[in-house]
Amino acid sequence: MKTLKINPAETGFDIDGVVADTMASFINIAKQDYGIHNIVKEQITSYWLEECLPIPDEIIEKIIARILTDPFGTGLKPNPGAVETLTAVGQEHTLVFVTARPVREPICRWLEQTLSEVQPERINVIATGEHSAKVSVLKKLGIKYFVEDHLATCLEIHKAGINAIVFDQPWNRNDPDSLWRVKGWKELGALMKAA
Ligand SMILES: [Mg+2]
Repeated sequence: MKTLKINPAETGFDIDGVVADTMASFINIAKQDYGIHNIVKEQITSYWLEECLPIPDEIIEKIIARILTDPFGTGLKPNPGAVETLTAVGQEHTLVFVTARPVREPICRWLEQTLSEVQPERINVIATGEHSAKVSVLKKLGIKYFVEDHLATCLEIHKAGINAIVFDQPWNRNDPDSLWRVKGWKELGALMKAA
């Protein structure tokens, strides 16, 4: 197995599914607002929720729209260890977040509040509006390592010569290409320290 070292100065991060536990937020809203109680995270075996969850498409769309516009109101929480690791890296480097979200402001405010010990000037958020735009944004920014939970995007990034690091989630385990993978923020933090 390859030992991976990640230079934090050249690293970018996806937000949903990596920094943010977006699927937990999704499951909570399904419960609270729509009375759907039988969903667990392990059921989400596809990035595309309508492929793996027994929830009508229009409800999925409504929940996602709420998560996109109102991270605080939907109770979006960081994944375990994300705040500790990003706070440590953010003392020395600008944190670069590249998301496919179409709107930047709500998630930017969420990050600034969640990473309250990082100076806001050190938090750079780019919202591309689509997954396929990530590669060109990362190239422009000189990002060499990108942590992402969407397998198809990881593959595009990898093909473009950027080190894609799959953030392990139930929906990205079907990876025939065996890309680099981290199990969580503790591991990621250790790899960035090793650089
Ligand atoms: Mg994501």
